[in-house]
Formats: sequence, C-alpha cells, structure tokens
Amino acid sequence: MDVSHILNHLNDAQRQAVAAPPGNALVLAGAGSGKTRVLVHRIAWLIQAEGYSPHSILAVTFTNKAAREMRGRIEELLGHSYAGMWVGTFHGLAHRLLKAHSKEAGLPDNFQILDSDDQLRLLKRIHRELELDESRWPPRQSQWFINGQKDEGKRSQHIEDFGHDLFITTMLKVYRRYEEICQQQGVVDFAELLLRAHEIWLNHPALLGHYQSRFRHILVDEFQDTNTIQYAWLRVLAGKQVPITAVGDDDQSIYGWRGARIENIQQFSQDFAGVETIRLEQNYRSTQTILKAANAVIANNRDRLGKELWSQGDEGDPIQVYAGFNEQDEARFITERIDSLTSGGDYSRSDTAILYRSNAQSRVLEENLIRAGLPYRIYGGQRFYDRLEIRNALAYLRLSLHRDDDAALERVINTPTRGIGARTVEQLRLIAREQGCSLWAAAQFCLREKVLPARASGALQAFVDLIAGIEQGIAELPLDEQVDHAIEASGLIEFHKKEKGEKGQARVENLQELVSAARSFETDDEDVPLLRAFLDQAALDAGEQQADEYEDSVQMMTLHSAKGLEFPVVFIAGMEQNLFPHRMSMEEQSLEEERRLCYVGITRAEQQLYLTYAETRRLHGQDNYNSPSCFLSEIPRELMSEVRGNTQISRPVSFANTSMHSTDEDSGLTLGQRVLHSIFGEGTILNFEGQGASARVQVNFESEGSKWLVLAYAKLEAI
Ligand code: ATP
Ligand code: MG
Repeated sequence: MDVSHILNHLNDAQRQAVAAPPGNALVLAGAGSGKTRVLVHRIAWLIQAEGYSPHSILAVTFTNKAAREMRGRIEELLGHSYAGMWVGTFHGLAHRLLKAHSKEAGLPDNFQILDSDDQLRLLKRIHRELELDESRWPPRQSQWFINGQKDEGKRSQHIEDFGHDLFITTMLKVYRRYEEICQQQGVVDFAELLLRAHEIWLNHPALLGHYQSRFRHILVDEFQDTNTIQYAWLRVLAGKQVPITAVGDDDQSIYGWRGARIENIQQFSQDFAGVETIRLEQNYRSTQTILKAANAVIANNRDRLGKELWSQGDEGDPIQVYAGFNEQDEARFITERIDSLTSGGDYSRSDTAILYRSNAQSRVLEENLIRAGLPYRIYGGQRFYDRLEIRNALAYLRLSLHRDDDAALERVINTPTRGIGARTVEQLRLIAREQGCSLWAAAQFCLREKVLPARASGALQAFVDLIAGIEQGIAELPLDEQVDHAIEASGLIEFHKKEKGEKGQARVENLQELVSAARSFETDDEDVPLLRAFLDQAALDAGEQQADEYEDSVQMMTLHSAKGLEFPVVFIAGMEQNLFPHRMSMEEQSLEEERRLCYVGITRAEQQLYLTYAETRRLHGQDNYNSPSCFLSEIPRELMSEVRGNTQISRPVSFANTSMHSTDEDSGLTLGQRVLHSIFGEGTILNFEGQGASARVQVNFESEGSKWLVLAYAKLEAI
C-alpha cells in the first residue's frame, strides 16, 4: 500500500517522529510546531505502514473536542472510519474502562458521573450533617481538598491523621463521609474516574495484562499537563511492553493549579526505557512578529527546558495594543474591530477569537457582541450543558434510569414547583441519613409510613408517579423523542414558557436544542443503552465546553481553554496587573505559570494579535484601577503599535504614561466617568462628539444600555 501521503507535508524532524520505529518517544517542542499534527500522522502511519490494528491504538488528548478532531483527521488521512480506536481524554477513557469493568471497579453497572456542581451540593449536605459552620469550613475547600488528594492517588485511608491538625482531621471526616455516600449512591466524580481506573490496574493484574496485550502503542498529547494519577495510570498500563509517544511543551504547562506536573516531562525519560527525544523548532502557525513576541515573553521564565522557535512566515502586522478607559470601552473596541474585519470579507467570524483570563470578563464582551448583532460562542463558562434548564432536564432523565441518583432528585424534586417544600426535603435527607438509603428510598418510606402531612404527602406521591410515568413513557421511543417526552412531561417547558421575557424564551429554546442534540447523538459504544450513553456524554461535556459548533461565530474562551487551538485573529482582553497576571499569582512560581498562560495566548494567533486593557475596570461589582500587565512590557516595543479610538497611530507604545482620559472642555466631564441622569440612572461616559451647543455624549447606562445624548440637555451629574 502506498503510504507516502502520510509523510507528505511534514518537515524532516516531523517525518522522523512519525516514522520512528515503534519505541518510546518524546516530542518536545514549542507552540505551533506541529506536535499534534505529528501525533495524528504517527497513528495513521502505525496503522497503514506498520499494519497495526486501529484497536491496538490508545490516544489521549486534552479535551473532548480535540479528541473528536483527532479522530476526524486520522480518518481523513486513512480514508476510513474506525470505531474501535480508543481516542479520548483521560477522563473519557477512564470512564470507558470503568463501564466495561464496573464489577472489578467495585461500582454498580449503572454508576453515574457526579459533575462538580453536584459534587459541591453533596459536600454542602455533608457539611450540614457534620455540623460544620460554612463560614469557617467552606464546602468548596473540601471539594478542593478531596479532588487534590484523589489527583495524588490518595483515598481517605491513605492520609494519616496525627490528631493535632484540626484542618486535616476535619477534611478527613468530610472525605470519609463523602466516599461512603458516593459508594452508596453509585456515583463517581471526575477525579474518582481516574483513581478507580488506576486501581483497576493495581488490583486486577489479569485485566491489566489483557489491555497490555491489546494496546500496542500509546500516544499522549499535551503531556506537560498530566497530573500524578494520570501519569501513574499510563506508566502502569505501559509496563515494559507498550511503547508511548508523548508530545508536549514545558512552556505551555498551565494546569499546575489543578495538580498538573511539568516534571512529568523530565520524569518520562527516566521512567521509560530508551526514550528517543525529538525536537521540532519550526513554527507553522504565526507571523514572525507574533512569534518574536511570544519568545520574548517566555524568555523571562527560569528553569525552562529551552527551545527556540523560528518561522519562515511573513513578518506580519505589528501587534496592536488598545488602552480602553474602562471595560465597556475595551469591549466596544473589540466588537467594532471584529465587525470591520469580518464585514470586509477577509475573515469569517470564526476566524476571530477573544481570550480572557477570568470567566467573569465575558459578560461585558458578550453584551457588546449581542448589541452589535455578532453571533458568538463560548467555550467553557456558561456552557450549554451547564445551563440550569438543561441540567434539570437531564436530571429527570437520570432519575428515570436510576432512582437512587440523589443529586438528580434534589435538583428537580420541586422544579418546576409542585408544593414539595424545603421542610419535606430536609425530612427526606434525615431519613436517608438515618437509614443509610437514597432520597428516593426515603420518599417511598415516607409515603408508606405516612410520615408527612397530607398535603406534602400528596405532592410527593405525584412526583414519584411522575418519574415512574416518564420511565414508562419513554420506554419504546427513539432517543430524541425520549428527551422530548421528558421535557414536556416534567412540566419544564410549560414552566419556562410562563417565565417572563427573553430568559424564559431562551430556556425553552435551549430545551428544544437538547432534543436536537439527542437527534444527532452518536456513540461508538454499542453495549450501552443510547440514553445512558447520551447522559454520560452530557456529563463529560459539562466538564469542559459545549455549544453550537456550526454557526459562524466569534470564538470566546478563557486562556486556559484555548490550549491547542489556533485562530487567524486573536484578541487578548484584560492585559492588566492583578487580572493577568492574576492577583493570586504574584509570587514567583505562579507568576511563571501565568507567563506560560500568556505564551499560550499569544501563540494562538496566526496573523493578527490584539492586546487590550482597561484603565478602570468594574469586575464583580468593584472598580479597579490597575496598571497595564507586566507581560506587555516584556514584549519588545518595536513589535507593537498603539491603537487610539479607531484610528491607528503608528508609534511606539509607552506603558509608563498610559493616561489618556479625554475631557469635554465645557462640561468638565471625562471619558470613563460615572454619571447620574435623572431618567436613565447611573452610567459611564463612553464617548464625546462635536463641540459647543451640538456636543453629544455617549453614556452606557446600567439599566438602559448605551445612549447618545445632547450634552447641553442631558444634565449629567458627576458621581
Ligand atoms: P500547540 O503547541 O499550540 O498545541 P502544536 O505543536 O500541536 O501546537 P499543530 O497544531 O500540530 O502544532 O500545528 C500548528 C499548525 O501548523 C497547524 O495549522 C498545522 O496544520 C500546521 N503545520 C504543522 N506542521 C506543518 C508542516 N510541516 N507543513 C505545513 N503546515 C504545518
Ligand atoms: Mg497541539
């Protein structure tokens, strides 16, 4: 068979990596140098040139989206589709393994995934039960503790309590109770997926042996962000016989705060035999200018494994820097720029991406995009499967499959409202706790023993009947009709239709969108009922991102979610001290991680890069006056030019003197100033136009949005 096409469009180093004889290999290379491309081509090569069965390949990526893309690109190269290939995230693969071997994993075969919201709710309940004061012992802290321990491979019994550290003693108490309840309910959180998958290897050598002879090659993308348990899982699976190809970039390790260990890259060459290290140095993604900026920023980090990237690409445009006077102005600038870039036909909307450090920054940007009529899509943040109405609908379906799913029950027992009050629910919890049973079983008990007052009892009976009715109603239906039936029968559609305004409408549309999602849902796992597979996928997707992939829309996401992606035009918003680098990361080590995040952000851009900041920013209801990000001053000045208003001034940027408040001479008002209007209320000045009697001012009012007013009549009062 002719396999030369697999080696076309690769440079020498890439070709060497792709066609290397099977053995352990580490591809260590900077952003945009074709690491992911090498992985894809290597898989195709192993299958077509080396004759490996697709069944014998295990490939790990960082997101479900990346996994889908990888599968698509392999199939494109080979001209076939292969369902048997294991391509997924660590979590997705662990889940697949646990489903196939739930007995060995000590789980019921219909175990459910507990996402982080549900996890937090459960922990709140445990804190109440243990009478822990929430202000002293925030449930989020326990969540962080438990997940952190699991990422390190530790269960409660592995942690020693010497009895003199109240923190450890308390956390352990919570951890133990949490483990107990999860086991009892048959639910598994994200970190638990990995831990159990690892324990399967340790406790069932025969099973491990089976997979070791099944898999002939393991490939891992974004290796720099593996954590302890993921690394351990790989290491045990590989044993001495399964070779691993790992690709990564130490400069792009950005999940240290979640337990990722850069050191795994160095460790790899020590723990695995005969590792061949391949370096790629040519960048194919960005212009020279963008690349130089990225190199200059990351050069400020110490302890790097050391890589230089070069490019044969064009010099490209200078990096454009915009100083907004506040976050509204920044968002307005970005929106207008995207509008003009895309209306000229040079770029489509999906060629443009807005990246930001913190999720909360997206709201203002979104509002501006909406006003400008520019469709956008958010990765992470308010994701489709995270939306309230979607989670509610899924909870009904989960309950219909599995009555003991307490998280689902708590979520919908009184949504839509059906007269089951907080007191009833509290009573169910009490009984569940006393009897060590699920809330559903507690409800059955209450009904049987007539524990509740008549009205509460009637409402509860109706709920129990409703769930049973849904189960029966959907028994014979195709997946999309199952979903459709559940959202109608549960009363959710009617409930949201009654909600006033756009919000209710949007929720109804989202629920309808869930039916479409079900219609196009596919799985390559035929052993599992479709609804079950759909619910599991939704839970996994809620763990990262989801939205409509097909509409041409501006791409918005946090810098963290942008890893591995590329866009012709990139905006990084909020280049301010305390925001980026984040206020919590001013000490050396975490500052370096922030800098890597900046490197990741800059290297997402192919042709144009915009860096914007605001002189004042209202975030989480507070006004902040931050100076421009230190990362801006790490970029050589000759690579940047400053944009003012919408006219570009080609002159070097100076961050020492960034004050650019312009003032209306007559009124004494300045841009960005907060003002009060007798009818529209409070707002912020966005713009001035004209002079004297015809002078107009643009104000963004909190309740009314942005308006142009004649200054002489507006009677704005400075506040
Ligand atoms: P990151 O570190 O950001 O994940 P990466 O090293 O994985 O980047 P890729 O995403 O694989 O890099 O490649 C970057 C871009 O360069 C892609 O658009 C890819 O198709 C292109 N590319 C890589 N190698 C070549 C090549 N030899 N010829 C042409 N284009 C290439
Ligand atoms: Mg990549």
